Amino acid sequence: MSGKLYLVATPIGNLEDITLRALKILKEVDLIAAEDTRNTLKLLNHFEIKKPLISNHRHNEEQKENVLINKLKEGKNIAIVSDAGTPGISDPGEVIVKKAIEENIDIIPVPGACAAINALIASGLDTTEFSFYGFLPLNKKLRKEKLEEIKNETKTSIIYEAPHKIKDTLKDLKEIVESRNIVLARELTKIHEEFIRGNIEEIIEKSEDLKGEMILLIEGATKKQKENVLNKLSLEEHYNFYEKQGIDKKEIIKQIAKDRGVNKNEIYKYFIN
Ligand code: SAM
Repeated sequence: MSGKLYLVATPIGNLEDITLRALKILKEVDLIAAEDTRNTLKLLNHFEIKKPLISNHRHNEEQKENVLINKLKEGKNIAIVSDAGTPGISDPGEVIVKKAIEENIDIIPVPGACAAINALIASGLDTTEFSFYGFLPLNKKLRKEKLEEIKNETKTSIIYEAPHKIKDTLKDLKEIVESRNIVLARELTKIHEEFIRGNIEEIIEKSEDLKGEMILLIEGATKKQKENVLNKLSLEEHYNFYEKQGIDKKEIIKQIAKDRGVNKNEIYKYFIN
């Protein structure tokens, strides 16, 4: 019988955030696949857990998947952990999960810290619906497209960012998303935990020399802001905007008509012609 694949969340700073269940699973599994074995070793040493470790980082995830799947098939139980927080969320995990599903292997999430969720719940922004963007693309064109998407997003947007890139990302947000409330959540669960709330200009001013791990949360666009932006586009650009989000043709036409306050048949006829 195959072993089980556990996705174990670990702390994002404060070691007391590890759960009792996570400790139990880490003690019980046969092997721990870690994003960086040196980091995980520190965590394991702190909790006096001795387990074989295997590296499973973003760049070798595809190669490691066969090794891990074979071990699971041999009946070994494996825990996947990342350097911090929940595996699979801007961290390795997704590749092995997909493969394990194909191989009928049981996958068991072991919940715990996730920086995005904790930043969101304390942000003061709308938590009923939100869009998680992870790290923005580095490619200029793709990055601009993502920022345009965020500009038109009516839900709260969440972005992860590396500390040394936060200034540039705030500048890009100012240029493309323009005026909007932002929350910068820093060093969650650590001594210098801080939430800076304000408009983009204020955040830029206050974040001059900030250090540590940071997340940006952007207030959703009001319906009016979204319509104003989209209705300035040509119909083709408006169509492309929704197409890039993977929405099907019929739904795009409905949405364009709604944004522009016209009958959907008018839009349909335009594209047929
Ligand atoms: N898997 C992790 C999770 O569940 O949140 C995220 C890993 S991702 C590689 C790292 C990014 O998460 C950082 O660049 C930062 O944006 C965010 N992050 C992680 N820990 C954080 C913390 N303690 N405070 C603020 N942001 C944090």
